Amino acid sequence: MDMCCKDLAEKLLLFRDGDLPEEEVQHLREHLHYCPPCLDLLNGYDEVVEVLCRLKPVKMPANLCESMKERLKTECGGTPDARQPEAASDGNGSEA
Ligand SMILES: [Zn+2]
Repeated sequence: MDMCCKDLAEKLLLFRDGDLPEEEVQHLREHLHYCPPCLDLLNGYDEVVEVLCRLKPVKMPANLCESMKERLKTECGGTPDARQPEAASDGNGSEA
């Protein structure tokens, strides 16, 4: 037992997008062989994507797109420590 269905459900999305590393794809394929529920899940994703594709395209303002990219960069690229406010003064403040 190396991969539980919950883990797999998350990887299925990556798998669909082709973003899953080759070795993980192998694990996932093996799992799908003996786990019909997960196979259903994968097929379910396909249906969802298909439905989404049939929806009317929504125009996204270019500036919104840019600001989202910026935001993603900030939220995903920053180190966790960088989120703390500058309160790290350890015995260095002798100026008034
Ligand atoms: Zn499964």
